[in-house]
Amino acid sequence: MHSNVRLDGPDVFLKRADGARLRSVDDVDYVDHLLGQGPALFGHAPEFLTSAVDQASRDALIFGGQGEREVYAAELVCSVLDWPDMVRFGLTGTEVVQAALRLARAVTGRTRVIRFEGHYHGWLDNVLVAERDGAWQAASSGQLESHLEDFRVLPWNDAELLGEVIEREGEQIAAVIMEPIMINSGVIEPAPGYLERVRRMCSRHGIVLIFDEVISGFRVGPGGAARRYGVTPDLAVYGKALGGGYPVSALVGREDLMSRIGIGDVNHAGTFNAWAPGMAAVIAALEHVRDDPPYPSIIAHGTKLMDGIREIGESFGEPLRVEGMPMAFHVSFGDAEVTDYRSLQELDLQRYASLASVLVEHGIWVARRGIWFVSEAHGPAELDDALTRFKTGFKDWLG
Ligand code: PLP
Repeated sequence: MHSNVRLDGPDVFLKRADGARLRSVDDVDYVDHLLGQGPALFGHAPEFLTSAVDQASRDALIFGGQGEREVYAAELVCSVLDWPDMVRFGLTGTEVVQAALRLARAVTGRTRVIRFEGHYHGWLDNVLVAERDGAWQAASSGQLESHLEDFRVLPWNDAELLGEVIEREGEQIAAVIMEPIMINSGVIEPAPGYLERVRRMCSRHGIVLIFDEVISGFRVGPGGAARRYGVTPDLAVYGKALGGGYPVSALVGREDLMSRIGIGDVNHAGTFNAWAPGMAAVIAALEHVRDDPPYPSIIAHGTKLMDGIREIGESFGEPLRVEGMPMAFHVSFGDAEVTDYRSLQELDLQRYASLASVLVEHGIWVARRGIWFVSEAHGPAELDDALTRFKTGFKDWLG
């Protein structure tokens, strides 16, 4: 397995990813609602993207110097997001999270970071945590627990609690980092006013607010969660949909912070940063987002899919909880009111996980953790196939 997230996936080898479908080496067709864990916002390998990258690859694979396209790509990122001043490109979400944390520590001269239960910020030693016996600890063998010492893991969506910690420890806190929509655990939106309160507290105490928009960025709208809720962080990180399937990520932010990187003061290196074909992918993806936004069709499709899944659950007398947004939603059993990681655990997540395995056997590529993504390439045939397969899969699963 080349990624741990695939450990909970099916024992299937794939040979093609095209539009909204995958095909296995055994020629089984799947409607894809995992979309590579998010990147394939426009579906797999859309012509506008692959042709731009093909062309750019002929111009250059790597320069070892500044490229023309990276300037335009950076300008596009700033204009489509509509708030940042400057951009640093990387390859993965994991690494730009690290760049953001380092920058926050450099500009504040503080070390402590506040993060939240159920939020994922990559696989490195200082951010990878799992809950064991009620405590958030290193999640992997070989991980240095000491790297987690400066991180405080708090329940999310609780402004009172965060306020108490900031009042007490604000002088030592460099950054608050969060998924502004907790897509990695249950696709939970922030409570009304929560982001605004966090923003105000961070500003008051000189704490750098970092939005990890690696999943939400460009997926929930052109401006990601920041624009959806009208709250501007100091720094933010993007990945996944930014390259539409090509490996590209970005750290973005205000000039007074970002200008510390790139002049040698705050190091952020990387042989492949702003690699030439990746810049063409960013340009093609963001011009598409700007000029021909995929959101109306994704929202229409996702809404029908969410409704259809709910109806199927009801028709079997086994109501399913389908929550989130049409662009990314979460399916489970149970009816608890879910606002954070802890209340999410009150749902019957294991029961859905077992259903998801059967759905895959019936030709819907979904994750056992309940998350569903929708792309621009999902059309009426995929809706029909997904719901028909869901119904037969559900029936089979019920026995
Ligand atoms: N941040 C968030 C919110 C993510 O969902 C992910 C990946 O799923 C990452 C960071 C890490 O990104 P990558 O897997 O590209 O390193």
